[in-house]
Amino acid sequence: MRHSSEIVRTDATTIAKMVSSQETQAREVLEAFLERISRYNDALRAFVYVDTEGARTRASEIDREIKRGTTYRMAGVPIAVKDVISVKGLPLTCGSKILRGYVPPYDATVIARLRKAGCVIVGMTNTDEFAMGSSTENSAYGPSINPWMQSRVPGGSSGGSAVAVAAGMAAIGLGSDTGGSVRLPASFVGVYGLKPSYGAVSRFGLVAFSNSIEQIGIFARSIGDLKLTYSVISGADPLDGTTLTFDWNLTTEEGTKVNAFRAGKVIEMSGEGVEPPVLEALDRTVQTLKRYSIQIENVNIPHLENCLAAYYLIAMSEASSNLARFDGVRYGNRVKTEGNWNEEYSRVRALFGSEVKRRVILGAHALSSGFFSMYYDKAARFRTLIKSEFESAFRNYDLLIGPTSPSPAFRLGERTLDPVQMYLSDVDTVPMNLTGVPALSVPTGFANAEGGLLPVATQLIAPYGREDTIFSIASLLEKAGVSAPKVVNPWGNIL
Ligand code: GLN
Repeated sequence: MRHSSEIVRTDATTIAKMVSSQETQAREVLEAFLERISRYNDALRAFVYVDTEGARTRASEIDREIKRGTTYRMAGVPIAVKDVISVKGLPLTCGSKILRGYVPPYDATVIARLRKAGCVIVGMTNTDEFAMGSSTENSAYGPSINPWMQSRVPGGSSGGSAVAVAAGMAAIGLGSDTGGSVRLPASFVGVYGLKPSYGAVSRFGLVAFSNSIEQIGIFARSIGDLKLTYSVISGADPLDGTTLTFDWNLTTEEGTKVNAFRAGKVIEMSGEGVEPPVLEALDRTVQTLKRYSIQIENVNIPHLENCLAAYYLIAMSEASSNLARFDGVRYGNRVKTEGNWNEEYSRVRALFGSEVKRRVILGAHALSSGFFSMYYDKAARFRTLIKSEFESAFRNYDLLIGPTSPSPAFRLGERTLDPVQMYLSDVDTVPMNLTGVPALSVPTGFANAEGGLLPVATQLIAPYGREDTIFSIASLLEKAGVSAPKVVNPWGNIL
């Protein structure tokens, strides 16, 4: 039995061990996290729905099953789920008015796998509407708040799950990363955020935004937790034809092979416009890796800066097509009118917020016959080019590194009036979505800001399908104390 503040600081791996050995009950673990939620969720708005009773029932069931001899890999681990991933029986709104009241009749594959592993789903977390944004300010529920500083955004679009993990309201969070929506908020609140390789994790049950580039990703406070969760949710799924299973083994002894590694520091990510504390954290990472005899050199990805334009074209085009299903007939709330079908359809579509409307219109324009070759086709061809630039870098290096974001968390309201400023927040994350390679945001330091500290992060990027490399390097940084995620109380008090 432990004190509840100790439980919420404990990592998922340890929670699972304690619950499995009956040293602690899943129910007791859950109550500690629920208590944090009831204390802090009004201020932080991490969760948009908390399934208190459902979670209690499930936790008690796990305790009973364990007594009967059932074994689980993640026994009693409380999970926060981004409001774009289907959980059977819990409301799914994608942070939008259009889906209010929708309750999915099935579990996403990741949820089914986590349940089977003994996890407890705590609730649904805040997101920018349909995962479109970098701050959660596009959510119909209002923004989540950064637990380090009340005046700052937590990053987006998976800001709610990031805050839940940083503030000790869940041990693990799930998000989706189409252009950086797991890594950016992870860097803004000081936790780990992984975007797996494209196809590593099933997207079945994830509401599609831009399906050729997005993946479900993980928020965690330790590399052990990240590996455990990744090993549970990843792997081929018959319900998602893009998935596959990689053949490396996560249990391989760590640190045995990294000494011969070569890493490339991406010049285009660490130049002008990057704030000094971010560069200092990157440098600290480089120095630490050198101490482990990892060779580090500068590397060029010549067209990196064009990724943002290509990303927004591809993402908007796919979104305009994916979001056609929210028409009040197939999905979305029906708006009854006396008028004709066109009027009814327009009223339904008017339920979308302004960022979603902007993207549907621009995406439809980019795909229209007169403009297709000028926009979408060009962006698609650019994707092939940037892929080949990454491939040639990975011929010389086992790993690439750079910042996750050029700056720490920005102020609420600072970028809402200028969509381009908001889009620029993703400059360092979108290339990995276009190329499909895995990337992890590692909290590597803090920036002194007016009124306190704000986390900054470094990104570890591996060749396609080599999450094992990322985990090995990140473990070194964790052991060396370069990254040590903390549970934080509002505003910035480390628990
Ligand atoms: N911020 C990016 C966008 O607005 C990324 C979103 C995401 O990864 N879901 O499109």
